[in-house]
Amino acid sequence: MNHQVHIIGGGLAGSEAAWQLAEAGVKVRLSEMRGSGEMTPAHQTNGLAELVCSNSFRSDDAVSNAVGLLHAEMRSLGSVIMAAADAHKVPAGSALAVDRHGFSEAVTAKIASHPNIEVVRERVDALPSSGSTIVATGPLTAAKLAESIGAATGSDALAFFDAIAPIVHRDSIDMEICWMASRWDKGDGKDYINCPMTKEQYLAFHQGLLNGEKTEFREWEKDTPYFEGCMPIEVMAERGVDTLRYGPMKPVGLDDPKTGRWPYAVVQLRQDNALGTLWNMVGFQTKLKYAEQVRLFRTIPGLQNAEFARLGGLHRNTFINSPQLLDGTLRLKQAPHIRFAGQITGCEGYVESAAIGLVAGRFAAAEIHGTEIIPPPQETALGALLGHITGGAEADSYQPMNVNFGLFPPLGTKSKKADRKAAYTSRARQALEEWQAAL
Ligand SMILES: Cc1cc2nc3c(=O)[nH]c(=O)nc-3n(C[C@H](O)[C@H](O)[C@H](O)COP(=O)(O)OP(=O)(O)OC[C@H]3O[C@@H](n4cnc5c(N)ncnc54)[C@H](O)[C@@H]3O)c2cc1C
Repeated sequence: MNHQVHIIGGGLAGSEAAWQLAEAGVKVRLSEMRGSGEMTPAHQTNGLAELVCSNSFRSDDAVSNAVGLLHAEMRSLGSVIMAAADAHKVPAGSALAVDRHGFSEAVTAKIASHPNIEVVRERVDALPSSGSTIVATGPLTAAKLAESIGAATGSDALAFFDAIAPIVHRDSIDMEICWMASRWDKGDGKDYINCPMTKEQYLAFHQGLLNGEKTEFREWEKDTPYFEGCMPIEVMAERGVDTLRYGPMKPVGLDDPKTGRWPYAVVQLRQDNALGTLWNMVGFQTKLKYAEQVRLFRTIPGLQNAEFARLGGLHRNTFINSPQLLDGTLRLKQAPHIRFAGQITGCEGYVESAAIGLVAGRFAAAEIHGTEIIPPPQETALGALLGHITGGAEADSYQPMNVNFGLFPPLGTKSKKADRKAAYTSRARQALEEWQAAL
């Protein structure tokens, strides 16, 4: 197939960009290195849009949460990622969590069978010198391409760590000790498995995290800062004895049926696959050594016999200085035939990466068709995120960012927090409608 746009990377962003282009009638070549004998340090399959860590797309509340609003906007723009997520959702309270295998298989099937898309399993080692291109190679961009990007942008790539949380087999969890409940009984009230801890157990566990043997940093990884949203549990523990009790191990809103009270601390596990056989330890991303993880996590009440389907790990993230390098439609200023999309632009998270893939695909399609490119208004979640990446953020201190109301233009009125959130989302809905009508 003669392609009009070349997309490099078949993750969340590349898949969404390919879909948007193909649906707009543009012929796409999608190059994905997994499936050609290559693998990243975090992926485990050859499926497109594989989720490498948590199975959650976070809040699905489109009225008072910015990522929930982003979900809604993407749905209204025909997102393949959101369609597959909705089709493979698993219970997770007010969050949207998915069966990771079903989700990735659905995206792969839709992309591979689209008549305008050719999926090619190949590693691309250099930025193409001509032709409309979208680079969506993510936080684990293969080394040679990263070098080529570094050479083209004239700037050093930045890097920091993301960490993977362990996954436990459901039938190895002791439900005589644990119980099922959502915090404050939200969702259907039973979406999480809760492991209760007494004060003594918590203090011993905290000490175990401090003492536990950690993986060594490689030379190139030293002095690299963590992203706050994906901080290893032992790093949180180092911040203070109570940090975890106010973070992932907070007990509030979780009545232990045996005592009728909140425990001193709680470890929560969330369903990780549609069958309900695998559960991930919420917020337990870690760089402890594997043997240490097994030993320490089995001291958690209810997990004394835990069998781990996957242990936690630690990986690099790579992103470019987008506010400095990209124009308002995600094109590299020095080589405008190249667009960037996904986490490599410095957005953070599955949803945000797919969202930036969605707009990159639409921009490239408009360019091919010779129509005016009209970016989504800043008042929308898509526009707010895009605006941050392409100029809203400070280039000097640019760090990965999840979508949040802080990226939206201010409302100009002072009101209660809940009212403000509702006002942001209502304004966004109207702006999106007007934008879609103008396209
Ligand atoms: C260890 C880790 C844990 C994470 N945990 C979470 C989490 O819990 N929640 C969350 O929302 N986000 C998490 N993230 C971030 C998440 O990975 C990204 O938000 C999302 O996957 C980015 O989408 P993407 O399409 O930009 O990149 P990816 O989904 O990584 O896709 C990039 C694709 O490009 C391919 N590729 C790379 N180089 C080449 C090349 N040279 N040629 C061809 N193909 C190439 C890769 O194989 C991959 O398929 C995590 C990231 C890492 C690394």
